[in-house]
Amino acid sequence: MRRLPIFLVIDVSESMAGKAIDDVQYGIKMLTDALVSNPFAMETVYISVIAFAGKAKTITPLTYVMDFIPPKLPIGCGTNLSDALKVLMCEIDTKVKKNTPETKGDWKPLIFILTDGIPNDNYKSAAAAQWKMNYGKYSTIAVLMGENSDATALKAITDDVLVFKETTQESYYAFFKWVSSSIQTSSKEMGEYGKEGNASNIEKFRKNLDADLLADNLPIENNVDFLVLTVRCQKTKKPYIVRYVSHNRSGIYMADGAYPVGEDYFELSSTEVGKNISSRQLTGVTPSCPHCNNPGFGHCNCDKWLCLDQEHLKNVTCPFCESTADYGNYDEFHFNGGRG
Ligand SMILES: [Zn+2]
Ligand SMILES: [Zn+2]
Repeated sequence: MRRLPIFLVIDVSESMAGKAIDDVQYGIKMLTDALVSNPFAMETVYISVIAFAGKAKTITPLTYVMDFIPPKLPIGCGTNLSDALKVLMCEIDTKVKKNTPETKGDWKPLIFILTDGIPNDNYKSAAAAQWKMNYGKYSTIAVLMGENSDATALKAITDDVLVFKETTQESYYAFFKWVSSSIQTSSKEMGEYGKEGNASNIEKFRKNLDADLLADNLPIENNVDFLVLTVRCQKTKKPYIVRYVSHNRSGIYMADGAYPVGEDYFELSSTEVGKNISSRQLTGVTPSCPHCNNPGFGHCNCDKWLCLDQEHLKNVTCPFCESTADYGNYDEFHFNGGRG
């Protein structure tokens, strides 16, 4: 039996933390539930999930759809599309069976790349060029959620870029339903007629998507900028992120929430130094620690952050560097802030 390999390449940067990642997680479950009850898909479909933030990682290697368990998606810092492409190319090279003189290999893989923001690596990278040259023959659909980010980087790796107007649950679910119907269409054609998907298939797929959900044009500007602080709870030592969002390059960052992350956050994060930020650029209600409910957080001399209780600011040990210090209120200070 020839397999139909599906690669889901999912942005798990900080901007996805919270509702968006939950929606994606549930979307993958809806997708596989639909595929396992489709007679053609259940015979041929294999799914792989690659997550990317500042670094990329295979979360689920190519797995038969009937055995596929939707993975728990991590969160990382940064959006490195080149690294995602490198991991994807490696997976295709090692897991997808090529034709040999004796036997037919797998069907051409279908690739779906999902992101909600602009990559912060160079999209004209060697990886992107290599992708276009050697893997451009595969059906690759890049989907941008929301119109707040520049889609140029996605356009550089595939002609098939779809932009959803909103980043709502409805949009995420619609995306996965559409992925599901596209895979079912492809597997049916392969099963019934022994035909392979091609570029014209993408056009056909696109027709199955509610046009009202899609943006009319590819956005070419970034209107939203995220600032992310990586914090550890001083009581549990567990990490979380505090996310701030800035609109229309105002330079003012509004607190947007605190989200617990796993230790794999550090594994998926880029180590590059972020932008220089003044504490005066931060505004909004300080989110409390999601692990112990401490109402605030403070900046250690090691340039990392820890949750703080305003009643106990003396002799506090930093869970990152283990140095002990007294904390207080400062008029203004500067720090390096990451982005998602
Ligand atoms: Zn805490
Ligand atoms: Zn420290």
